[in-house]
Amino acid sequence: MIVLLVSSIFGCNLNVDRAAIDVTNYQFNLEFNEEIHSINGKMKVDYFNKSETPLGEIRFNLYPNAFREQSQQSVISLSAYDKCYYNGVSYGNIEILRVYDKSELDLNFQICGVDENILSVVLQNKVQPETYTSFFIEFTVLIPNINHRFGYGENTVNLGNFFPIACVYENGKWIEIEYCSYGDPFYSEIANYLVEITYPKNYIIASTGKEAATSALGDKKISILDAKAVRDFAIVLSKKFQVATEKVNNTNVSYYYYDDEQFQNSLETGKKAIKTYSELFGRYPYEEMNVVQSNFVHGGMEYPCLVLISDSIQDYETYTHTILHEIAHQWWYGVVGNNQTDYAWLDEGLTEFSCALFFKQNPDYNITVEDLVQQANSSYQVFQAIYGNVLGKINTSINRSLGQFSTEPEYFNLVYVKGFLLLASVSDLIGEQKVINCLKNYYSTFAFKTATPEDFIGCFERISSRELENYFDTWLNGKIIEFN
Ligand SMILES: [Zn+2]
Repeated sequence: MIVLLVSSIFGCNLNVDRAAIDVTNYQFNLEFNEEIHSINGKMKVDYFNKSETPLGEIRFNLYPNAFREQSQQSVISLSAYDKCYYNGVSYGNIEILRVYDKSELDLNFQICGVDENILSVVLQNKVQPETYTSFFIEFTVLIPNINHRFGYGENTVNLGNFFPIACVYENGKWIEIEYCSYGDPFYSEIANYLVEITYPKNYIIASTGKEAATSALGDKKISILDAKAVRDFAIVLSKKFQVATEKVNNTNVSYYYYDDEQFQNSLETGKKAIKTYSELFGRYPYEEMNVVQSNFVHGGMEYPCLVLISDSIQDYETYTHTILHEIAHQWWYGVVGNNQTDYAWLDEGLTEFSCALFFKQNPDYNITVEDLVQQANSSYQVFQAIYGNVLGKINTSINRSLGQFSTEPEYFNLVYVKGFLLLASVSDLIGEQKVINCLKNYYSTFAFKTATPEDFIGCFERISSRELENYFDTWLNGKIIEFN
C-alpha cells in the first residue's frame, strides 16, 4: 500500500493525460503543396484561459513572418548567412485569410506587434478565467528555401514554428516574441494538438506526437498526428528518410536519417539518452521520441518529442553530443518550460550540464565531466581574451534576454559555456548527488508548467538546505567575472 501510494505521488505530476486537461487544444487540417512549397491550413483553436483575467482578445505569435522580405527581425547571423541561404535569397511568410467562430461569423483580427509578428483575434464575448473559447483560423504558409528550422533544403522540409501559436499571457500582458538570429526565440505553454496533414505519397513524415493513422488517397497520403500535453508541434518531411525504431521503457525511439553509416549507434545514443535522463531526473512521459536528421544551419534544435540533428555536422562525436543535448531538452524546455527568450541559460546551461551527467553514467563514450569542464574553461578563456581585447571590457552577465547579447559568440559563451560551468561549480560546492536530487525535485515540481530562475534556485536551496541565491547571483549577474 505504501509503495503504491508513494509511486502514485511521484508519478502524478508526470501523467500526460492529466496534464492534457484544462489546456488549449489546436486542431489542424493542413495540405502541403510540393510545387510551391506552401501549406494551406485551417485550425480550430479551443483556447483555455488559465489567467485570472477575462480576456477580450487572444494573441498569437506569427514566427514565419520573420522570414519575409520586408522583415525587420533577423533570422540568421551574417557568419551563417551563406550556409542558411545556400541557394540564394528566399523568403517565407504566413498569411491569415480568415478568422471566424463556430456559427461561421467572422471575427475581427489584426496583424500587429513590432514587425507583423503578432495576430490579435478579437472575441465576440470575453473568455472568462478557467473557461474555453473556440474559433477557426484559415491561413497559408510559404516555406523559404533555406537550411533553417523553418525552411526546405536539399533533403528535408522543416516545419518548425510554422503556425499561429498562442502567446503566453503572464502578469496581465501578452508576451510577444521577436525573432533573433541566435538562440531559440520562442515561448509557449502546454497544449494538445490533433493534426491532419495531406502530402505527396513519396514523402515520409516525422512529427511531434504519434502518427495515429495514415491512409493513401491517389498520389497523396493523409496522416493523423496526435500529441497531448506538449509545448509545441513540429513536422519534418523527406523523400529520403530511412527509419529505425526501437523501444526503451515505454517510449518508441525512432531515428529518421538519410546519410549516416553509423545509424545503429545514433539510434542507440537516442535510446540511452531517454533511459539515462529518465533515471537521473524523472521519467520521460511521452510514448514517442523522434531523432530527425535534417538540413539545418545550426547543430540541432529541440521540439517536443522531435529533435532536428544537422546533416552538416562533420565529426561523429559532435553528432552524438548534439543528439544528447537535444534530447536533454525534452526535460528542460519540453516538460519543464521556461521563457527561452528571457532566460535561455535556464534550459541551455542545464541541458549542457545534463550531457555531462550522461557521459558520467555512460563511460563507454570515453568523455569525462573533467574533460567537459576543461573544454568549457578554455572556450570561455579564449572568448574573454578575444572579446576583452576588442571591447576592452565585456559584459559577462548570463541573465539577459536574447536581444541583449551583442554577438552570437557572446551568447554562446555565456549561456551555454558559462551556464554549464555555473552548474558544474554548484556541483563541486554541494555535491553531485545533491544536484541530481535538486533536479529531480525541479522536474517533478514544474512538469508541464513554466519555471523561472527563482523557481530553479528555490529548488536548489530547499533540497540542499543551503542558501545559494548569492552564489547563483554572482555567476548569473556578475558583470565582470574572471575565473580559470
Ligand atoms: Zn540547446
